[in-house]
Amino acid sequence: MPRRIRKFQHITRSLRFRLTVSYALFFSVMLIGVGTIYRRNLATSLDTQIRDGLEQEWAAVKGYLRIENDKPIWYYDRDDPDESFIVERLRRVYVVADAQGKVLADAQGNQQISEAYESIGRDSSAHIAAVLRAQQPQWDVRKNAKGVPYLIRSGAVYDENNRKPYFVAVGRSLADNQHILDQFTWTYVTIIPLVIVSGCVLGWFLAARALTAVLEVAQAAQRISGSNLSLRIPSRDAHDELDYLIETFNRMIGRLENFFNQIRQFSTDVSHELRTPITGIRGQLEVALFTASTADQYREAILNALQDIERLSQIVRALLLLSQAESGQLALQKTRLNLSELVADVVDQFQIPYEAARVRLTADLPRACLAEVDRIQIERMVSNLVSNAMKFTPAGGQVRVSLRNEAEGIELAVEDTGCGIPTDHLPHIFDRFYRVPGRDASGPERGLGLGLSFVAWIAKAHQGYVRVESSPGKGSRFIVFLPVLAEADQRPDAAGAPVASGMNEL
Ligand code: ADP
Repeated sequence: MPRRIRKFQHITRSLRFRLTVSYALFFSVMLIGVGTIYRRNLATSLDTQIRDGLEQEWAAVKGYLRIENDKPIWYYDRDDPDESFIVERLRRVYVVADAQGKVLADAQGNQQISEAYESIGRDSSAHIAAVLRAQQPQWDVRKNAKGVPYLIRSGAVYDENNRKPYFVAVGRSLADNQHILDQFTWTYVTIIPLVIVSGCVLGWFLAARALTAVLEVAQAAQRISGSNLSLRIPSRDAHDELDYLIETFNRMIGRLENFFNQIRQFSTDVSHELRTPITGIRGQLEVALFTASTADQYREAILNALQDIERLSQIVRALLLLSQAESGQLALQKTRLNLSELVADVVDQFQIPYEAARVRLTADLPRACLAEVDRIQIERMVSNLVSNAMKFTPAGGQVRVSLRNEAEGIELAVEDTGCGIPTDHLPHIFDRFYRVPGRDASGPERGLGLGLSFVAWIAKAHQGYVRVESSPGKGSRFIVFLPVLAEADQRPDAAGAPVASGMNEL
């Protein structure tokens, strides 16, 4: 496509062009509408004016004109210039005729028809008869040979002696009115394009001014990329819609920045987590290669390497499941079950390890606590919480698991008398790979820092949440809230999350 056409298309598609065209269309429709209405009103008022004038002239004619024995006589003081002028004006367009259409002549033989009336043509006897019969004033418009229109008011005037009707008509030229209307139309027709063109020019510049700010915002937005997400679009402090857009955009960039940082942190954590067992495996194998001489030494090195490999595969498996869960590739398989029984089973399973750790594990469960949940996930969640509580509670401590039926949902709490979590670490413990420094066991016993991430995801997948209260040195309390869902929300995972059948292998 030729460049010039492309440029034209570019302009015609621009917001600026479309705004200007909208202005132009709006102005045109408004101006044409207002002009038409105004012209119609003007025509009506001119017509009313001329009819009123003619009505008055007709009344004056009746006052001055007498017809006696077929002779019209104009009664007025011929020495009075005002009166003479008035009568002359009345007779500019007039005719006096008898019922047969014959124009009357006065005593001096003057035909009672003016030149102007003659020019629009005499009335036919049929028309005169109709007017006289009608007994009502008649109005009609007639044109002379040059096309000048006249408004004629005709009616009957009676002979004073024998009540004989005569046809009398007076008229006025409509040329002046027509001229005023034509002038108005032409002035308006010339002004409209001028107003529209100047409106368009003004609109074009105003639109440019308004849109410059938008373009500046777009340019600033373009400078923001993945590597400099800390940049923000400066606010214009105008507190207008554009500032609102900038604020919204900046907030979105802020969220993206957080998200990017989390991903970056996550990659660092993953590399770190994977490096430790890999270094271990490498060390074991090197030891075996360079120093081992007996079969037992080789076996021990291989066993140690296998332990590290097991940890590696645990991490990979956990990460895979967590990412599948969070990206919505796993669907929950909900069934209606008694949560009290489920929790009691998990507590039973943990009694032996708890005894070994010399921590007392008790459960406070209602007889029935029905809920629509994914059994495997909820078991996983309770196990994670109960096992954490055991890990972080010293010998002689206590852990209490309780379930409560609330009006809006079910509350599960796992409470321990362990070491607690320092306040500044609390907001992070649900992050992946986060472990409170100095609290964890070392070696293969060391946790992955993923357990609470699963707990948070499972609660969220059931439209619930998990929160924690903790006082360092006294203990912690993890509370999971699972809402009682309305029928419509009972679909397989409103959070888009899906089954994690393999998750309990973790
Ligand atoms: P891990 O799988 O390593 O236990 P989690 O995600 O389950 O990781 O827990 C993250 C961190 O939260 C743990 O490293 C621990 O420091 C802290 N934590 C979890 N549960 C408790 C608890 N009951 N008491 C004290 N600290 C806890």
